[in-house]
Amino acid sequence: MTQPFSFRCDATDGRARTGAISTPRGEIRTPAFMPVGTAATVKAMLPESVRATGADILLGNTYHLMLRPTAERIDRLGGLHRFMNWDGPILTDSGGFQVMSLGALRKLDEDGVTFKSHIDGSKHRLTPEHSMEIQRLLGSDIVMCFDECPSLPADRDRIATSMELSMRWAARSRAAFGDRPGHALFGIQQGGLDRDLRAQSADALRDIGFDGYAVGGLAVGEGQDAMFDVLDYAPDQLPKDKPRYLMGVGKPDDIVGAVARGIDMMDCVLPSRSGRTGQGWTRRGQVNLRNARHADDPRPLDEACTCPTCQGYSRAYLHHVIRSQEIIGSMLLTWHNLHYFQELMAGMRDAIAGATFTAWQAGFHAMRADGDIERI
Ligand SMILES: [Zn+2]
Repeated sequence: MTQPFSFRCDATDGRARTGAISTPRGEIRTPAFMPVGTAATVKAMLPESVRATGADILLGNTYHLMLRPTAERIDRLGGLHRFMNWDGPILTDSGGFQVMSLGALRKLDEDGVTFKSHIDGSKHRLTPEHSMEIQRLLGSDIVMCFDECPSLPADRDRIATSMELSMRWAARSRAAFGDRPGHALFGIQQGGLDRDLRAQSADALRDIGFDGYAVGGLAVGEGQDAMFDVLDYAPDQLPKDKPRYLMGVGKPDDIVGAVARGIDMMDCVLPSRSGRTGQGWTRRGQVNLRNARHADDPRPLDEACTCPTCQGYSRAYLHHVIRSQEIIGSMLLTWHNLHYFQELMAGMRDAIAGATFTAWQAGFHAMRADGDIERI
Protein backbone atom coordinates (compact mmCIF):
# COMPACT_ATOMS: atom_id res chain seq x y z
CA MET A 1 0.00 0.00 0.00
CA THR A 2 1.28 3.45 -0.87
CA GLN A 3 2.02 5.52 2.17
CA PRO A 4 0.12 8.76 1.87
CA PHE A 5 1.80 12.12 2.00
CA SER A 6 1.41 13.68 5.44
CA PHE A 7 2.75 16.44 7.66
CA ARG A 8 3.10 16.50 11.41
CA CYS A 9 4.22 19.24 13.76
CA ASP A 10 6.09 17.86 16.78
CA ALA A 11 6.88 21.08 18.64
CA THR A 12 6.50 24.82 18.41
CA ASP A 13 8.53 27.61 19.98
CA GLY A 14 7.00 31.02 19.44
CA ARG A 15 5.85 30.91 15.83
CA ALA A 16 8.63 28.51 14.80
CA ARG A 17 7.76 24.87 14.46
CA THR A 18 9.51 21.56 13.88
CA GLY A 19 8.17 18.24 12.63
CA ALA A 20 8.33 16.13 9.52
CA ILE A 21 6.73 15.52 6.14
CA SER A 22 6.22 11.82 5.39
CA THR A 23 6.46 10.68 1.79
CA PRO A 24 6.79 7.20 0.27
CA ARG A 25 10.42 8.10 -0.51
CA GLY A 26 11.27 9.04 3.04
CA GLU A 27 10.79 11.60 5.72
CA ILE A 28 11.63 15.28 5.34
CA ARG A 29 12.61 16.80 8.69
CA THR A 30 11.29 20.34 9.07
CA PRO A 31 12.27 23.08 8.97
CA ALA A 32 13.98 21.77 5.85
CA PHE A 33 16.45 23.30 3.43
CA MET A 34 16.26 21.91 -0.10
CA PRO A 35 19.43 22.08 -2.23
CA VAL A 36 18.67 22.99 -5.84
CA GLY A 37 19.43 20.43 -8.54
CA THR A 38 18.47 22.59 -11.49
CA ALA A 39 19.48 20.34 -14.38
CA ALA A 40 19.16 16.97 -12.58
CA THR A 41 22.33 17.60 -10.59
CA VAL A 42 23.32 19.65 -7.58
CA LYS A 43 26.32 21.13 -9.33
CA ALA A 44 29.73 19.74 -8.28
CA MET A 45 28.15 17.17 -5.93
CA LEU A 46 27.41 13.45 -6.14
CA PRO A 47 23.88 12.70 -4.91
CA GLU A 48 25.26 10.55 -2.07
CA SER A 49 27.40 13.50 -1.02
CA VAL A 50 24.34 15.74 -0.96
CA ARG A 51 22.64 13.12 1.22
CA ALA A 52 25.70 13.03 3.50
CA THR A 53 25.34 16.76 4.16
CA GLY A 54 21.96 16.00 5.76
CA ALA A 55 19.60 16.89 2.91
CA ASP A 56 16.31 14.97 2.94
CA ILE A 57 14.93 16.42 -0.30
CA LEU A 58 16.13 18.08 -3.50
CA LEU A 59 14.53 20.61 -5.81
CA GLY A 60 14.44 20.18 -9.59
CA ASN A 61 13.53 22.83 -12.15
CA THR A 62 10.75 22.09 -14.62
CA TYR A 63 11.81 24.85 -17.00
CA HIS A 64 15.36 23.55 -17.42
CA LEU A 65 14.42 19.86 -17.55
CA MET A 66 11.58 20.32 -20.07
CA LEU A 67 14.03 21.97 -22.47
CA ARG A 68 16.92 19.61 -21.84
CA PRO A 69 16.88 16.59 -21.74
CA THR A 70 13.02 16.91 -21.86
CA ALA A 71 10.52 15.37 -19.44
CA GLU A 72 9.55 12.73 -22.00
CA ARG A 73 13.14 11.45 -22.20
CA ILE A 74 13.50 11.39 -18.41
CA ASP A 75 10.21 9.48 -18.20
CA ARG A 76 11.44 6.91 -20.74
CA LEU A 77 14.60 6.49 -18.66
CA GLY A 78 12.64 5.68 -15.52
CA GLY A 79 11.91 9.11 -14.04
CA LEU A 80 14.03 11.83 -12.47
CA HIS A 81 14.99 9.88 -9.31
CA ARG A 82 16.51 7.04 -11.31
CA PHE A 83 17.94 9.36 -13.96
CA MET A 84 19.95 11.40 -11.44
CA ASN A 85 20.46 8.57 -8.90
CA TRP A 86 18.66 10.28 -5.99
CA ASP A 87 16.14 8.03 -4.24
CA GLY A 88 14.87 10.60 -1.73
CA PRO A 89 11.97 12.97 -2.24
CA ILE A 90 12.15 15.57 -5.03
CA LEU A 91 10.16 18.79 -5.26
CA THR A 92 9.81 20.35 -8.69
CA ASP A 93 8.85 23.94 -9.37
CA SER A 94 6.22 24.59 -12.01
CA GLY A 95 8.41 26.40 -14.50
CA GLY A 96 6.32 29.52 -14.01
CA PHE A 97 8.83 31.59 -12.11
CA GLN A 98 11.69 30.90 -14.50
CA VAL A 99 9.57 31.47 -17.60
CA MET A 100 8.36 34.79 -16.19
CA SER A 101 11.99 35.75 -15.58
CA LEU A 102 12.65 35.49 -19.33
CA GLY A 103 11.14 38.97 -19.78
CA ALA A 104 10.93 39.86 -23.45
CA LEU A 105 11.32 36.22 -24.46
CA ARG A 106 7.85 35.29 -23.17
CA LYS A 107 4.22 36.21 -23.83
CA LEU A 108 1.51 35.76 -21.23
CA ASP A 109 -2.21 35.13 -21.84
CA GLU A 110 -5.13 33.78 -19.82
CA ASP A 111 -4.43 30.20 -20.83
CA GLY A 112 -0.67 30.12 -20.21
CA VAL A 113 2.63 31.47 -21.40
CA THR A 114 4.58 31.10 -24.65
CA PHE A 115 8.31 31.52 -24.48
CA LYS A 116 11.56 31.04 -26.31
CA SER A 117 14.20 28.67 -24.98
CA HIS A 118 17.31 30.40 -23.64
CA ILE A 119 19.29 27.48 -25.11
CA ASP A 120 18.36 27.55 -28.81
CA GLY A 121 15.55 30.09 -29.20
CA SER A 122 12.97 27.37 -29.93
CA LYS A 123 9.35 28.19 -29.07
CA HIS A 124 7.58 26.46 -26.16
CA ARG A 125 4.34 26.83 -24.27
CA LEU A 126 3.47 26.18 -20.63
CA THR A 127 -0.03 26.04 -19.21
CA PRO A 128 -1.15 24.77 -15.80
CA GLU A 129 -2.14 21.47 -17.43
CA HIS A 130 1.15 21.07 -19.26
CA SER A 131 3.18 21.91 -16.15
CA MET A 132 1.30 19.22 -14.21
CA GLU A 133 1.99 16.73 -17.01
CA ILE A 134 5.72 17.54 -17.08
CA GLN A 135 6.04 17.22 -13.31
CA ARG A 136 4.17 13.88 -13.50
CA LEU A 137 6.56 12.62 -16.17
CA LEU A 138 9.52 13.67 -14.03
CA GLY A 139 8.06 11.65 -11.15
CA SER A 140 8.17 14.58 -8.75
CA ASP A 141 7.05 13.84 -5.18
CA ILE A 142 6.00 17.41 -4.44
CA VAL A 143 4.51 19.21 -7.42
CA MET A 144 4.08 22.98 -7.48
CA CYS A 145 1.11 24.81 -8.99
CA PHE A 146 1.74 26.79 -12.15
CA ASP A 147 1.61 30.48 -11.25
CA GLU A 148 2.67 33.92 -12.31
CA CYS A 149 5.10 35.87 -10.17
CA PRO A 150 5.33 39.58 -10.99
CA SER A 151 8.65 41.24 -10.28
CA LEU A 152 8.63 43.91 -7.58
CA PRO A 153 8.08 46.79 -7.30
CA ALA A 154 4.75 46.71 -9.12
CA ASP A 155 1.57 48.69 -8.51
CA ARG A 156 -1.34 47.16 -6.60
CA ASP A 157 -3.53 46.66 -9.69
CA ARG A 158 -0.79 44.72 -11.44
CA ILE A 159 -0.20 42.56 -8.33
CA ALA A 160 -3.95 41.97 -7.88
CA THR A 161 -4.53 41.02 -11.53
CA SER A 162 -1.55 38.69 -11.45
CA MET A 163 -2.63 37.08 -8.16
CA GLU A 164 -6.16 36.48 -9.48
CA LEU A 165 -4.75 34.84 -12.62
CA SER A 166 -2.50 32.66 -10.45
CA MET A 167 -5.53 31.56 -8.40
CA ARG A 168 -7.42 30.55 -11.58
CA TRP A 169 -4.28 28.66 -12.64
CA ALA A 170 -4.12 27.07 -9.16
CA ALA A 171 -7.64 25.65 -9.65
CA ARG A 172 -6.66 24.36 -13.10
CA SER A 173 -3.44 22.85 -11.67
CA ARG A 174 -5.48 21.08 -8.96
CA ALA A 175 -7.91 19.65 -11.53
CA ALA A 176 -5.12 18.52 -13.85
CA PHE A 177 -3.06 16.98 -11.03
CA GLY A 178 -5.98 14.70 -10.15
CA ASP A 179 -5.73 12.06 -7.45
CA ARG A 180 -2.17 10.71 -7.06
CA PRO A 181 -1.69 8.94 -3.70
CA GLY A 182 1.77 9.50 -2.24
CA HIS A 183 2.35 12.60 -4.37
CA ALA A 184 1.61 16.09 -3.16
CA LEU A 185 0.47 19.28 -4.86
CA PHE A 186 1.32 22.61 -3.25
CA GLY A 187 -0.53 25.85 -3.87
CA ILE A 188 1.35 29.14 -4.05
CA GLN A 189 0.19 32.28 -2.29
CA GLN A 190 0.76 35.51 -4.20
CA GLY A 191 -0.17 39.12 -3.51
CA GLY A 192 3.16 40.92 -3.37
CA LEU A 193 3.67 43.00 -0.25
CA ASP A 194 -0.08 43.64 0.22
CA ARG A 195 -1.67 42.02 3.26
CA ASP A 196 -5.23 42.04 1.88
CA LEU A 197 -4.20 40.52 -1.44
CA ARG A 198 -2.20 37.86 0.43
CA ALA A 199 -5.31 37.07 2.51
CA GLN A 200 -7.48 36.83 -0.62
CA SER A 201 -4.92 34.52 -2.21
CA ALA A 202 -4.74 32.32 0.91
CA ASP A 203 -8.55 32.04 1.00
CA ALA A 204 -8.70 31.08 -2.67
CA LEU A 205 -6.05 28.39 -2.19
CA ARG A 206 -7.72 27.04 0.94
CA ASP A 207 -11.02 26.73 -0.95
CA ILE A 208 -9.30 24.67 -3.65
CA GLY A 209 -7.40 22.57 -1.09
CA PHE A 210 -3.72 21.58 -1.30
CA ASP A 211 -1.26 19.27 0.46
CA GLY A 212 1.00 22.20 1.30
CA TYR A 213 1.21 25.92 0.72
CA ALA A 214 4.05 28.09 -0.53
CA VAL A 215 4.57 31.76 0.12
CA GLY A 216 5.47 32.88 -3.39
CA GLY A 217 6.48 36.18 -4.88
CA LEU A 218 9.14 36.99 -2.28
CA ALA A 219 12.92 37.02 -2.55
CA VAL A 220 12.51 38.87 -5.85
CA GLY A 221 14.46 41.96 -4.87
CA GLU A 222 12.21 43.48 -2.20
CA GLY A 223 14.87 43.26 0.53
CA GLN A 224 14.89 41.44 3.86
CA ASP A 225 12.86 44.00 5.83
CA ALA A 226 10.00 43.94 3.31
CA MET A 227 10.14 40.15 3.14
CA PHE A 228 10.01 39.80 6.93
CA ASP A 229 7.10 42.29 7.05
CA VAL A 230 5.12 39.92 4.79
CA LEU A 231 6.25 36.85 6.74
CA ASP A 232 4.97 38.51 9.92
CA TYR A 233 1.44 37.67 8.70
CA ALA A 234 1.53 35.52 5.52
CA PRO A 235 2.27 32.09 7.08
CA ASP A 236 -0.59 32.57 9.56
CA GLN A 237 -2.99 33.19 6.67
CA LEU A 238 -2.26 29.65 5.42
CA PRO A 239 -3.62 26.39 6.91
CA LYS A 240 -1.82 25.42 10.11
CA ASP A 241 -1.93 21.67 9.52
CA LYS A 242 -0.02 21.75 6.21
CA PRO A 243 3.63 22.51 5.41
CA ARG A 244 4.52 26.10 4.52
CA TYR A 245 7.23 26.64 1.95
CA LEU A 246 9.08 29.88 1.30
CA MET A 247 10.34 29.72 -2.27
CA GLY A 248 13.85 30.81 -3.24
CA VAL A 249 15.18 31.74 0.22
CA GLY A 250 17.88 32.39 1.03
CA LYS A 251 20.87 33.64 2.97
CA PRO A 252 21.38 32.11 6.43
CA ASP A 253 19.87 35.11 8.25
CA ASP A 254 16.88 35.11 5.84
CA ILE A 255 16.37 31.42 6.62
CA VAL A 256 16.54 31.90 10.38
CA GLY A 257 14.12 34.84 10.23
CA ALA A 258 11.72 32.84 8.06
CA VAL A 259 11.76 29.84 10.40
CA ALA A 260 11.12 32.17 13.33
CA ARG A 261 8.01 33.32 11.44
CA GLY A 262 6.59 29.83 10.91
CA ILE A 263 8.14 28.63 7.63
CA ASP A 264 8.81 24.86 7.29
CA MET A 265 10.64 24.55 3.96
CA MET A 266 13.02 26.61 1.87
CA ASP A 267 15.24 26.26 -1.18
CA CYS A 268 18.02 28.34 -2.64
CA VAL A 269 20.90 28.03 -5.08
CA LEU A 270 23.05 30.13 -2.74
CA PRO A 271 25.18 27.43 -1.03
CA SER A 272 25.99 25.65 -4.29
CA ARG A 273 26.36 28.79 -6.43
CA SER A 274 28.57 30.42 -3.78
CA GLY A 275 30.63 27.25 -3.74
CA ARG A 276 31.52 27.83 -7.38
CA THR A 277 32.48 31.47 -6.91
CA GLY A 278 34.85 31.07 -3.97
CA GLN A 279 32.37 32.13 -1.29
CA GLY A 280 32.15 30.09 1.90
CA TRP A 281 29.37 30.33 4.48
CA THR A 282 30.19 29.65 8.11
CA ARG A 283 28.81 30.35 11.60
CA ARG A 284 30.77 33.59 11.34
CA GLY A 285 29.19 34.75 8.10
CA GLN A 286 30.49 34.88 4.54
CA VAL A 287 34.16 34.25 3.73
CA ASN A 288 35.70 35.13 0.35
CA LEU A 289 38.34 32.46 -0.18
CA ARG A 290 39.71 34.24 -3.23
CA ASN A 291 41.08 36.87 -0.87
CA ALA A 292 44.90 36.85 -0.56
CA ARG A 293 44.66 36.78 3.25
CA HIS A 294 43.99 33.01 3.01
CA ALA A 295 47.02 32.18 0.82
CA ASP A 296 49.25 31.06 3.73
CA ASP A 297 46.53 30.06 6.18
CA PRO A 298 46.85 26.39 7.26
CA ARG A 299 43.59 26.46 9.25
CA PRO A 300 40.31 24.94 8.00
CA LEU A 301 37.50 27.19 6.79
CA ASP A 302 35.71 26.49 10.08
CA GLU A 303 37.56 24.54 12.79
CA ALA A 304 34.24 23.43 14.34
CA CYS A 305 32.80 22.08 11.07
CA THR A 306 32.68 18.29 10.59
CA CYS A 307 32.40 18.35 6.79
CA PRO A 308 35.11 16.58 4.70
CA THR A 309 36.36 19.93 3.41
CA CYS A 310 37.07 21.32 6.86
CA GLN A 311 38.40 17.95 8.08
CA GLY A 312 40.98 17.58 5.33
CA TYR A 313 41.80 20.89 3.66
CA SER A 314 43.21 24.26 4.66
CA ARG A 315 42.09 27.74 3.72
CA ALA A 316 45.38 28.01 1.83
CA TYR A 317 44.52 24.96 -0.28
CA LEU A 318 40.98 26.19 -0.95
CA HIS A 319 42.40 29.59 -1.93
CA HIS A 320 44.86 27.92 -4.30
CA VAL A 321 42.41 25.61 -6.08
CA ILE A 322 39.77 28.32 -6.40
CA ARG A 323 42.26 30.82 -7.80
CA SER A 324 43.59 28.12 -10.15
CA GLN A 325 40.02 27.32 -11.23
CA GLU A 326 40.52 23.67 -10.33
CA ILE A 327 37.27 21.67 -10.32
CA ILE A 328 37.94 20.44 -6.79
CA GLY A 329 37.60 24.01 -5.55
CA SER A 330 33.91 24.05 -6.48
CA MET A 331 33.45 20.54 -5.10
CA LEU A 332 35.02 21.24 -1.72
CA LEU A 333 33.36 24.58 -1.15
CA THR A 334 29.92 23.44 -2.31
CA TRP A 335 30.14 20.45 0.05
CA HIS A 336 31.05 22.69 2.97
CA ASN A 337 28.33 25.23 2.17
CA LEU A 338 25.61 22.60 1.84
CA HIS A 339 26.83 20.99 5.07
CA TYR A 340 26.69 24.34 6.85
CA PHE A 341 23.14 25.05 5.62
CA GLN A 342 21.98 21.62 6.79
CA GLU A 343 23.69 22.08 10.17
CA LEU A 344 21.88 25.39 10.45
CA MET A 345 18.55 23.63 9.91
CA ALA A 346 19.43 20.82 12.35
CA GLY A 347 20.40 23.38 14.98
CA MET A 348 17.07 25.16 14.58
CA ARG A 349 15.10 21.90 14.70
CA ASP A 350 16.82 20.96 17.97
CA ALA A 351 16.36 24.42 19.45
CA ILE A 352 12.66 24.54 18.56
CA ALA A 353 12.14 21.04 19.99
CA GLY A 354 13.93 22.10 23.17
CA ALA A 355 12.09 25.43 23.38
CA THR A 356 15.40 27.31 23.27
CA PHE A 357 14.99 28.92 19.86
CA THR A 358 15.15 32.51 21.15
CA ALA A 359 18.53 31.85 22.79
CA TRP A 360 19.68 29.93 19.72
CA GLN A 361 18.88 32.92 17.49
CA ALA A 362 20.79 35.25 19.81
CA GLY A 363 23.82 32.95 19.56
CA PHE A 364 23.49 32.75 15.77
CA HIS A 365 23.48 36.54 15.38
CA ALA A 366 26.25 37.09 17.98
CA MET A 367 28.61 34.65 16.24
CA ARG A 368 28.03 36.35 12.87
CA ALA A 369 28.53 39.80 14.39
CA ASP A 370 32.02 38.68 15.51
CA GLY A 371 32.92 38.04 11.88
CA ASP A 372 35.56 35.73 10.42
CA ILE A 373 38.58 34.57 12.44
CA GLU A 374 41.55 36.94 12.64
CA ARG A 375 44.04 36.61 9.82
CA ILE A 376 47.26 34.71 10.46
ZN1 LIG B 1 33.08 22.55 6.59
